[in-house]
Amino acid sequence: MTQSAIIERLATLRAGLNEYNYQYYVLDAPTVPDAEYDRLMQELKALESQHPDLITPDSPSQKVGGEPVSAFGEVAHEVPMLSLDNAFDDDEFHAFVKRMGDRLKRDLQGGFCCEPKLDGLAVSLLYENGQLVRGATRGDGRTGENISANVKTIANVPLMLRGAGYPARLEVRGEVFMTRSGFEKLNQSQVEQGKKVFANPRNAAAGSLRQLDSRITASRPLTFYAYSVGLAEGGALADSHYGRLQQLKDWGLPLCPEIRLVEDAKGCTAFYQQILQKRDNLAYEIDGVVIKLNDLALQQELGFVARAPRWAIAWKFPAQEEMTELLDVEFQV
Ligand code: NAD
Repeated sequence: MTQSAIIERLATLRAGLNEYNYQYYVLDAPTVPDAEYDRLMQELKALESQHPDLITPDSPSQKVGGEPVSAFGEVAHEVPMLSLDNAFDDDEFHAFVKRMGDRLKRDLQGGFCCEPKLDGLAVSLLYENGQLVRGATRGDGRTGENISANVKTIANVPLMLRGAGYPARLEVRGEVFMTRSGFEKLNQSQVEQGKKVFANPRNAAAGSLRQLDSRITASRPLTFYAYSVGLAEGGALADSHYGRLQQLKDWGLPLCPEIRLVEDAKGCTAFYQQILQKRDNLAYEIDGVVIKLNDLALQQELGFVARAPRWAIAWKFPAQEEMTELLDVEFQV
């Protein structure tokens, strides 16, 4: 490829991915299957890694999500809400483990926390003195949308934490999603009312949560599972990721029951296989597993790259089916 052909291809990929990001994150109405998006993103990343001088800060490979919609009101994330790097096969997963070992120059003690990768949208919940005071979307990672009224309508989101010992300011992060049965029922009722149906549970969840009228959100079957802590002030937390998740559970936050702590990379591979086999029987859609280094001191040492932590990876499942046609979905803002 000549230099000008590379520059042209980079521009085409960036323009296409930016448009797909806008459709997916802002409109909740994607027009291409995720597998196609992932393929274009991989091509962009491969070209950029061969030509690092051509990486621009505004490239979709360097950015998280999409622009927040101003009608909701903005929330500045005190701790950025990042994305995750992907592994698409066993070799890429093992390369991730090796990269961490090489960087730390010692054994990865403390094990790995293995979690299903829930296919919904990331949400931040801020608790002050145990009370839920704010809910926000991830947005572009630095600024999210204020959806406080909407998150308060989700049945399994506690408005008050239980027990004692939680930090005075505690930001819980997790995924809002729709179960398969909730999605079926919602689409059935959309059809009965002559309204547009949703393309899949992920779009239904995003479209339902990002509503300016929280009564609409309240009528939708949304569920929340916590998967990490963002900000924590005024109180001590466990020194492992898994330990923190157990604390969140004690304080009344719902966790995905499939989460497991394993010792080593072999344990992660076994978890991946088990969840892949269970995938179709789970009540909700997942698109892979997330593997996180459990020891928080090691996580801190590894730090972050542009848009993702170095200590976690989304190990994606093979695409189940490519959408042949994406249905028109409701536009809510
Ligand atoms: P991602 O979905 O690959 O990974 C990060 C997200 O995973 C987090 O923000 C969180 O919401 C979610 N997650 C689920 N379970 C989690 C857990 N246990 N722990 C931590 N995080 C968990 O990254 P992304 O940047 O949100 O989205 C990129 C993906 O979205 C693409 O790979 C593609 O599949 C899809 N996408 C599709 C289109 C399209 O047009 N079809 C456009 C943009 C993005």
